[in-house]
This record gives sequence, C-alpha cells and structure tokens, in this order.
Amino acid sequence: MLAAIEAGGTKFVLAVGPSPDTITTRHTIPTRDPATTLAEAAAWFASQGPVTALGIGSFGPVELDPASPQWGFVTTTPKPGWAGTDVARHLARELGDVPVGFDTDVNAAALAEHRARAKNGGGEAGGSLAYLTIGTGIGGGLVLDGKPVHGIAHPEIGHIYPRRHPNDCDFAGVCPHHGDCLEGLAAGPAVMARWGVSLSELPADHPGQAIIADYIAQACHVLFASVAVEEVVIGGGVAQTPGLVDKVAARARALDAGYLPGGARHRIIAPRLGTNSGITGAMLLAERAAAEA
Ligand code: ZN
Repeated sequence: MLAAIEAGGTKFVLAVGPSPDTITTRHTIPTRDPATTLAEAAAWFASQGPVTALGIGSFGPVELDPASPQWGFVTTTPKPGWAGTDVARHLARELGDVPVGFDTDVNAAALAEHRARAKNGGGEAGGSLAYLTIGTGIGGGLVLDGKPVHGIAHPEIGHIYPRRHPNDCDFAGVCPHHGDCLEGLAAGPAVMARWGVSLSELPADHPGQAIIADYIAQACHVLFASVAVEEVVIGGGVAQTPGLVDKVAARARALDAGYLPGGARHRIIAPRLGTNSGITGAMLLAERAAAEA
C-alpha cells in the first residue's frame, strides 16, 4: 500500500492505495500549524494500516537538494509557523521509517499529467510538459525528458514579471515580494483586489477575463520560448473559470505571432486528470521511492 499527500497551503489531501492509478481511500484535512497538521496526517495513515512508501507533493518553497540536511523541508514560506518545517523525513519516521519521495505540488502534478499523456498514447515516455496552477498563488512544475526539473532549486514560474496589459497599468499587484509579478497580477487574490469577486464570478465579457488570460498566456509563451515544452497544462481554482484555458491558448498564439519553431505543435490544455493531478503525482513519488529503496 502506498501513501500520498498533496500538501497545500489551505488543505492536505491524504490518500492510500496499491498504485497511482488506484487510490482506495482519501481524506482531506485543513492546513493548521505544522505540529497539528502533521500529527493529524500521521494518525489518519496509521488508521489505514501499514504502508510501504510515502510520496509528498508540497507547497513551497521547499528544499529538494538530496545533499542538504534540510531536504524535505518547507523553507521560507510566508505561511505562519511553516518556515523551516521538516515535512518529509518527519512523516516518513511517523509511518515506520518508510521510503519517502518529495517534490513540489506542481512538479508532482506535472509528473502525473506527463504519465497520463503517455498512457493515453499522446506522447512518448520522454518528452516535456509544464503544469501551471493558478489559484491562491501561481506555481509551475516542469518535466523534461520524463524527469521533474529541479535546477539549484525548483522553478518559480509564478514570479516572472509579465509585460503589463494596457488596460491594467494602475494596479500595483499583491505579491509580498515583487508586487506585480505574475502571481501578484493574476492569482486569485489579485483578481479579488481589483474586482472584488473571483474570476469565475466576473461576466465572460468583463475586461478582467482578457487581462488575466493575457498574463497566463505570457507565462505559457515563456515556457514555450525558453524550454520548448510541448504542452502547458493549466490547473488550479482560477483555471476552472469557464472558457479561460481557451482564452489563454488563443492569446498565446497571438503573442507568438507564428514565430516559434513547432509553434503549431505547442498545446495549452486543462488537466487530463481534472483535480486529481496533484494527489496522483504524490502517489507516483511514493511508487518511485519504493522502487529506489
Ligand atoms: Zn512574486
């Protein structure tokens, strides 16, 4: 039995099952302080019986350098109480010293979407894919040649600076670090700060829809132009706004203006796994950890 956690800033999704395709039981708990949340997660897993490995896709920033004593920690997050929290090794110990796989929530989701595409015959086992989540924040995971990209740390595509939309030059942005980075301009709180409602509550022809689609399209263009991913998968709460993914795809084509090599083959799509990309990816991390142990 594999155990998996999609660890988010507002909730933890917990799951167990024999394989990434077969989640037998899942349970959601609110993200409170680290001690309470991790104890609650460990207690739920204990109630499900013994597990052979644990996979965690976590909110961040996180430490992914296997040589670091802080590997598996949430590091500099502004979320109160969570900075410097040992998540991976602590939970692995609680579950009986099981092997543990750990990555960002969005790298986990990217892995799951990449695998779903290969299983559906829509691409080879290698190949590339980016997963963007547009919700309370904006994050991006990247799989190249079938492997999640880490670099010196994990990608933070949510914090690139997009070019301002001409009808959106007065809004300062809400990112506590950068003001008007992508997250500061296009995540849920930025929509709320400008228009007082969520994007899905704005009328389909409201100018805000085109403004947000433009910023997300710019991020897709960056991913196509810099690492030439075949596909950008767009998930998260804001991305569930009806029509948004199509607007983003159309805007990205316009921004590219027919230039990029293979431009016609680049795709922007909604998640194949719906809202299950993250937890399925965490199950994949557990499966890999078990195989490597
Ligand atoms: Zn930022």
